[in-house]
Amino acid sequence: MQRRGLLIILSSPSGAGKSTMTKRLRLWDPTFRFSVSATTRAPRPGEEDGREYYFRSREAFEQMVATGEMLEHAEVFGNFYGSPKGPVVANMESGVDTLFDIDWQGGQQIKQAMGEDVVSIFILPPSMAELERRLRSRGQDSDEVIAGRMSKSLAEISHWAEYDYVLVNDDPDTCEEKLRAILSAERQRRTRQPWLNDFVRGLNKEYGGKS
Ligand code: ADP
Ligand code: 5GP
Repeated sequence: MQRRGLLIILSSPSGAGKSTMTKRLRLWDPTFRFSVSATTRAPRPGEEDGREYYFRSREAFEQMVATGEMLEHAEVFGNFYGSPKGPVVANMESGVDTLFDIDWQGGQQIKQAMGEDVVSIFILPPSMAELERRLRSRGQDSDEVIAGRMSKSLAEISHWAEYDYVLVNDDPDTCEEKLRAILSAERQRRTRQPWLNDFVRGLNKEYGGKS
C-alpha cells in the first residue's frame, strides 16, 4: 500500500520559523527526512558539515551543478545554496517524505521539476517587528547581518502567493498543529495512492455477484 514520498517545501523570510517548524515536524514524525543542502557560506558556530549543510568551496559547488547533482540551486544573500538530488529521489521512491528549508527560487525550481509530488508552504511572521525580534533572539548574527536579512525579507515575502499553503507563525504550537493537519491531509490525496485502483478492484471481486 505504498505511496511516493512527498517533497515538502518550507519557505519564509529568515527568522520566521522554518528551522523551528522543521525540527518540530521531525519530532512529531521521525520518518520525515530533511534535505541537507550544499552551500558556499561559512559554517556558523555549532553547525556541522553534513548535518545542517554540506559546506563546500565555490569550485566544488559549481562542479555539483555542472554534473547535474543538484535538484535546484540559487544565490541567496551572496552565497550559493542547492539541494542534492540523489537522496531526494531515493526518498521519493521508497515512500519517505522529504522536508526542504529553501528559498522561493528553489521552491519554484522544484515545483517545476517535480510537479504533483510537491507540497509548498510559506511561513509569514506575525509582524516585521516580531521578525526582527526573533532574528535578534536567535543570537547568531551581528547587527549588520540582521539589518541585511531584514532588508531582504520583503522580497522573499513578495512570493507568498506562489505557495500551496500560507501560515502566519504567531504561536508555535498553533503553527505546528496546522502543519500537521496539512501534511496528514496531503498524504491521503487520492492521486498519491496508486494502490487504490487494485484495492477497489479487490472489493468488487470479493463481493461480485452477491448484490
Ligand atoms: P528560520 O529558520 O526561518 O530562519 P528560526 O526557526 O531559526 O527561523 O526562528 C528564528 C527565531 O525565532 C528562533 O530563535 C526561534 O526559536 C524563534 N521562533 C520561531 N518560531 C517562533 C514563534 N512562533 N514565536 C516566538 N519565537 C519563535
Ligand atoms: P541560512 O544561511 O540562514 O542557513 O539560509 C539562508 C537562506 O537560504 C534561507 O532562506 C534558506 O531557506 C535558503 N536555503 C537554504 N538551503 C537552500 C537550498 O538548498 N536552496 C535554496 N534555493 N535556498 C536554500
